[in-house]
Amino acid sequence: MSPPTSRQPTPNHARQRRLAMVAHDLRRGGIRDESVLAAMARVPREEFLPDEFRSQAYDNCALPIACGQTISQPLIVAMMTEALKLRGGERVLEIGAGSGYQAAVLAELAGEVISLERHPELAEAARRRLQRLGYENVRVVLADGSWGLPDEAPFDCIIVTAAAESCPPALLEQLRMGGRLVGPFGPADAQVLQVIKKTPAGFAISKLTSCRFVPLVSDSSAPRRR
Ligand code: SAH
Repeated sequence: MSPPTSRQPTPNHARQRRLAMVAHDLRRGGIRDESVLAAMARVPREEFLPDEFRSQAYDNCALPIACGQTISQPLIVAMMTEALKLRGGERVLEIGAGSGYQAAVLAELAGEVISLERHPELAEAARRRLQRLGYENVRVVLADGSWGLPDEAPFDCIIVTAAAESCPPALLEQLRMGGRLVGPFGPADAQVLQVIKKTPAGFAISKLTSCRFVPLVSDSSAPRRR
C-alpha cells in the first residue's frame, strides 16, 4: 500500500501530526492550560487552509489564506486563547475571522463566539467551513471590527487578531467589567501581544511577546454591519 500523500493528509495522519504539534510546539513553547492544549488537539487546522498549504498545517508557522491575509501561527493562537482564561460559557468577540481557525479553537472552550471579518469572501468561506465542521456556537459577521459589535455588547472576552497602533476604544468599551482583551498593538515594526484586563481601577495591561500580524484595516467612520 502506498503511503498517504502529504498533500492531502488522511484524518489519522493529520491527528498524529496535530498531537505532535501540541507536544513539541505548544507544550515546549510554554502553553500550560490543559484545556487549551486539548482544544488545539481537536481542531483540524488543515481544514482551514488552501489546498496548496494543507501539508504544512502542523508546522508551527503562519500561512497564507485568501485576500492576502494569514492564518496565525499555532503557538500564537494557543497563547492568545490561554490569555483569555476561558472556563466555559463566556461570550467572546473576535476581530478578524480570517480562516475561522482561531474562532474554532475559542468555540471549543467558550459558550458563544462572534467573529467579525471585513472581507466578504473570507467571511463567507469561514462561515461555511465552521458550519461544515459542526461549530454551532460560532457566528461570523461581515463588519468593520474596529467598532466592535455595540448591539451585542458587553463581551466577557475580546480577541483582536489583526494589528493596530493601539486598541480601538470601542472594543475597550464593549468589554464587561472584569473581562479580558488580547491583541497585537504597537508600531507596525514592533507589535506586542498585550492582555488588557478591565478592572474598576482602570485597564491593567500585561505584555506576552513580540509578534507580527496583518494590519487591522478600518473602512468606515461609524459602526456598520453588512
Ligand atoms: N484569526 C484568523 C487570522 C486573522 S488574519 C484565523 O484564525 O485565521 C487577520 C484578519 O483580520 C484578516 O482576515 C483581515 O481581513 C481581518 N481584518 C482586518 N481588519 C479588519 C477589520 N477592521 N474588521 C474586521 N476584520 C478585519
